[in-house]
Amino acid sequence: MPIYEYEPVDRDCFMCPNRIEVIQDIGAEPYKFCPYCGLDVKKVVSRATFKVGNEPTADKAAKKGFTTYKRAEKGVWEKAAGEGPDIITGTKEDLEAVEAEKAAKPKILDLNDVE
Ligand SMILES: [Zn+2]
Repeated sequence: MPIYEYEPVDRDCFMCPNRIEVIQDIGAEPYKFCPYCGLDVKKVVSRATFKVGNEPTADKAAKKGFTTYKRAEKGVWEKAAGEGPDIITGTKEDLEAVEAEKAAKPKILDLNDVE
């Protein structure tokens, strides 16, 4: 399942590091309130942690409250540093969505071929 990130609305959260990562079903109702402190939050990023950072920066990211995952095998990510579950397993639908995104080529305009 994809990971969604939330941040507090117009204030600092006193119980979480101002950014909450939640694993939710695609199309699930977004959280309106922080699951830790119950105050209002807004969704900021979808699937951010599917873009895996370099390992040496994972600890740095963890200090800032981010969780870094690295791909262990197809559809399986292992936590490198930070809070959160140790292992994330993508569903077949997630993997297909990721593959489709990769397969979509950007449109390139050939300037020699403009009519
Ligand atoms: Zn909170």
